Amino acid sequence: MIPLTSVLSHKGRGSRNPNLDDTLGLEVKELLNSSLENPAMWQLYGQDHILKQLRPSLEQGRLAHAYLLVGPPHIGKMSLAIHLAQSVNCLEGSVAPCGACGQCERIVRGQHADVRITTVFQPEDSRVTRTVIGIGDVKEALHQANLKPYEGSCSVLIFDGVESMSEEAANALLKTLEEPPPQVLILLLTANEEALLSTIRSRCRRLDLRPVPKQQLAERLVAEHNAEPELAERLARLSRGCPGWAISALADPQILEERDDQLAQVQEVAQANLEGRFAFASDLAARFGRDRESSRQTLFLWLRWWRDLLLVKEGAEEYVNNQEQLSQLRLQAANLTGPQVVSFIRALVETLEALDDNANPRLALEVLMLSLPAPVS
Ligand SMILES: [Zn+2]
Repeated sequence: MIPLTSVLSHKGRGSRNPNLDDTLGLEVKELLNSSLENPAMWQLYGQDHILKQLRPSLEQGRLAHAYLLVGPPHIGKMSLAIHLAQSVNCLEGSVAPCGACGQCERIVRGQHADVRITTVFQPEDSRVTRTVIGIGDVKEALHQANLKPYEGSCSVLIFDGVESMSEEAANALLKTLEEPPPQVLILLLTANEEALLSTIRSRCRRLDLRPVPKQQLAERLVAEHNAEPELAERLARLSRGCPGWAISALADPQILEERDDQLAQVQEVAQANLEGRFAFASDLAARFGRDRESSRQTLFLWLRWWRDLLLVKEGAEEYVNNQEQLSQLRLQAANLTGPQVVSFIRALVETLEALDDNANPRLALEVLMLSLPAPVS
């Protein structure tokens, strides 16, 4: 479904230079490939406000030691991180990385010795199942921070999925953030900053990535990725402004199919008896243990479906996200009252919060299932 899943890579461990191809998802590779074709500019989707925010520091060559890149999955955090790594090492010395010099190219190809990615995400075919960035991973990366840059002018440490860091690892990272070595740029990427230690948050400058406007994203999918206009519109809408998701779904039709399957399940569970509902809770709780982020995304999909039900009830169908399922939404909405829908949306939000606070997943999800309005007989 989602090209990056929450499994920590062992592949890059122990080397100074983990292979980008192994750690990055398709979407990032696609974005980076397009930056190889169009060098000398920022190949970022819809993040002009961040470039504006960073421009003075980049011009003066005075970036902060650490930044926290915040935004939902697939919005372009890794892409921005790679661009920043290029920018501080680019031989052309301009604000935007040239994309063509030896430094820029080696960084994009994942061959640069001073740019290190530590990630909790790994492509789905990986057999490794770990869900946290551990102390060993952080120590290895920080060891590099204490060495002089090997081939560039600045070492860049990128930690992706930093909300999934063990406490021990987070504390080790915190020490480095408190006394950062010179010539090191630390970039922390998160989709869920609430789960971070507040002390880590406060030591970083924050960069908020924003969803790309639907029209703009659809136009770029057509112009740069040869998408059919109708499909481009659908992907831009369903991606909710996250270009990485739209680009992946364009390249891999299975992503849309699996999304449709998950929506069918949302409806099935609503019609299931308590046993069926608890079976769903149990499956999702088990998945949560293996892959926290993908389970959260499933719950967000539920949230969007129930938001759509509310919109249908309120007569605001033009704002429905799942336009393709409008007839099913109407059918289900007809059997629910407005307060029932609102109350279940509230329960979903509370469940997500409880899971972020490390509640027992099975228990939290069973409680959620008990809040689901009774099936229509
Ligand atoms: Zn360059």
